Amino acid sequence: MREKMVQTQIIDRGITDTEVIKAMLNVPRHFFVPEKHKSKAYFDCPLPIGYNQTISQPYIVAFMTEKLNLNSKDKVLEIGTGSGYQSAILSQIVDSVFTIEIVKELSIVSKHKLETGGYTNVFCRQGDGYNGWPEHAPFDAIIVTAAPDKVPEPLLDQLAENGRLIIPVGPVNNTQHLNLYIKKNGKIKQQSLLTVRFVPFIREKE
Ligand code: SAH
Repeated sequence: MREKMVQTQIIDRGITDTEVIKAMLNVPRHFFVPEKHKSKAYFDCPLPIGYNQTISQPYIVAFMTEKLNLNSKDKVLEIGTGSGYQSAILSQIVDSVFTIEIVKELSIVSKHKLETGGYTNVFCRQGDGYNGWPEHAPFDAIIVTAAPDKVPEPLLDQLAENGRLIIPVGPVNNTQHLNLYIKKNGKIKQQSLLTVRFVPFIREKE
């Protein structure tokens, strides 16, 4: 089922990065999907993971990963661990993945899955990812899988030179834009890639 998913949903729709394709073939998506929805793990859609959150559609995972233009030396920050699936995909391609999840229960489950699954280069933290993870900055790439109204400035600050940030930006229940920000000579260039619908970016009360 995974091979068919990769062929029809990923390759046939134009994903060409061989590292991304290899990762999508290697990582058992069903391992990250809750028991109740396991039979649908290779379907062409997002799936509920509890707490009003979702694991993204496989194509969106591949698309965002490809746009980050990753290489094996990269250090990546992910905001929104959720099921841990996107973290596992990234871990196959880069040196290390730092991932933050705000919902405590999801953070515990995904951390456990990533550990038992042998994804030893993924480092998990529970909390609000708005301020990034300054202790490990700068990052070569940052991926955000929940949509804020505006791009969090601390994440742009934590991009390395030539760093890439991919993030859905826009109002809840309305059209959001999947934006790519690239830092060149200390300046940020922005590109809008797709219109998307992501779960809202949640803020911890200060
Ligand atoms: N990458 C995930 C997608 C999960 S959906 C996967 O592959 O399964 C987005 C996740 O972002 C949710 O789990 C949600 O709880 C989390 N989230 C929302 N706002 C956040 C914030 N401020 N900091 C960290 N995580 C956040």
